[in-house]
Amino acid sequence: MQCMCGGDAKTSSAERRPLKAELSFYVCRECQLVSCGVLYIEGIEIAIDAGTTGSDRIAFNSLTVESARQLYADAITPQSSTTTTGEQATFDF
Ligand SMILES: [Zn+2]
Repeated sequence: MQCMCGGDAKTSSAERRPLKAELSFYVCRECQLVSCGVLYIEGIEIAIDAGTTGSDRIAFNSLTVESARQLYADAITPQSSTTTTGEQATFDF
């Protein structure tokens, strides 16, 4: 992948085993710009940073057991605009 600066961006990743969270992203060899970050929790795609804001990196760095659980719950809950069950899903972390 090519960075906006024209440099060569390589894939990299970071992992938080206790939270079962993993962040994969591209980092430029030239300007160190981080882009296209994807945050996974338990192998489920939680958030994608298609641009260069680094939002997922921030989320990852500030991830706690509680926030990870919430992100995970949000991610696996079907987004339906027609029905609202009000049911609370529980997950064992
Ligand atoms: Zn660059």
